[in-house]
Amino acid sequence: MERTLTCIVCPLGCTLTVQWQDGAVTSVTGNTCPRGKAYAETECTAPVRTVTSTVRCVDGRLVSVKTDRPIPKECMAACMERIHRATADLPIAIGDVIIEDVFGSNVVATQNRSVG
Ligand code: SF4
Repeated sequence: MERTLTCIVCPLGCTLTVQWQDGAVTSVTGNTCPRGKAYAETECTAPVRTVTSTVRCVDGRLVSVKTDRPIPKECMAACMERIHRATADLPIAIGDVIIEDVFGSNVVATQNRSVG
């Protein structure tokens, strides 16, 4: 079987052609660098995504967050649910863990929030 993907690892956006058989990738073409091959293999076998969103702070403001590593693509909706249910204490510094252990990742702040 053949599948065409756009590599999202860097802004160049190479068009990748992936051949696979019996659940295994047999060839990747169109990649300009090895990262594209790795992306295509993961995308076709166990796709992952970094989730970005916002969490409400105790004072009602929002703070932007992201998972500190990619999580399985099929877990994104459940991850977003946990993010939407969470409330963050203040103050917050970039990199602070807002929610621990969400599908093998921590949800961390990507901006600062002071008290008041
Ligand atoms: S294959 Fe390499 S150069 Fe092309 S988009 Fe992916 S990371 Fe960028």
